[in-house]
Amino acid sequence: MGRWAREGLRAGRSTGFVPTMGALHEGHLSLIRRARRENDRVAVSVFVNPAQFGPKEDFQRYPRPFRRDAALCRAAGVDALFVPPAGALYLPGHETWVEVEKLSRPLCGAFRPGHFRGVATVVLKLFQIVQPTRAYFGEKDFQQLRVIAKMVRDLNVPVRVVACPTVREPSGLALSSRNAFLGSAERQAAPLLQRALREGARAAASGRNPAAARRAALALLARMPGARVEYLAVVDPETLAPLSRGRAGGVVAAAVRVGKTRLIDNARVGAPRGGGRP
Ligand code: AMP
Repeated sequence: MGRWAREGLRAGRSTGFVPTMGALHEGHLSLIRRARRENDRVAVSVFVNPAQFGPKEDFQRYPRPFRRDAALCRAAGVDALFVPPAGALYLPGHETWVEVEKLSRPLCGAFRPGHFRGVATVVLKLFQIVQPTRAYFGEKDFQQLRVIAKMVRDLNVPVRVVACPTVREPSGLALSSRNAFLGSAERQAAPLLQRALREGARAAASGRNPAAARRAALALLARMPGARVEYLAVVDPETLAPLSRGRAGGVVAAAVRVGKTRLIDNARVGAPRGGGRP
């Protein structure tokens, strides 16, 4: 992988990079297509990063349909597919970590201690190896996108971070590798998450009280059978701090547990279907 990266740099060719954990779907493919359009070469990594999973999380059962992923990458015109074994990426005695202190704390960070430290560390490691010109991330994982953009800025990483809109099923459910874990009743209920977030985003329009927006969204989520809300917050798109007044560009973000599956999603205030750039 390092040799491929150096060859591209020497030849003055741009590289678009899409880091993933595999089990690729249309969301990932939309990032890959955009990388394909905007760069001379495209690299995709598939790595289920142990450092970003908690001890009780789904690292072991995370889906790993490698042959299918490789075929999808080939069909999408990916030039390099990087699949490092965990033991090669984290050498024995690994002890260096990247921590984006404040942005990692709220929202998902409060429920997944160490998660964003694992994400920031592996993404910086992958950047060092792949040396991309641009790297593509989905807005579905909004906090992750902010954490990585901040890490790149704070550590002078020479990569352009490109935010890409969330790809959804017609029902509004955001595509996710974890949707495969949903039972059929859970899957039917899951689109309520985006509906609730959009309702919250509407209610958090300019000048309104975000507490009322939260209540409106939570009222809809209460109709989702078996759902447990971890958090639902109306936040500033840069700092992720709770907004004291609704405003366009604000983000309504939530994590919900449905059975054994944890779903996250968000919606932008003043933009339909959570679209728009951060
Ligand atoms: P993952 O494999 O879940 O770690 O995701 C890899 C990348 O794909 C991340 O930048 C995600 O934000 C992005 N991604 C995942 N699901 C979607 C989606 N439904 N729409 C757009 N991007 C997505």
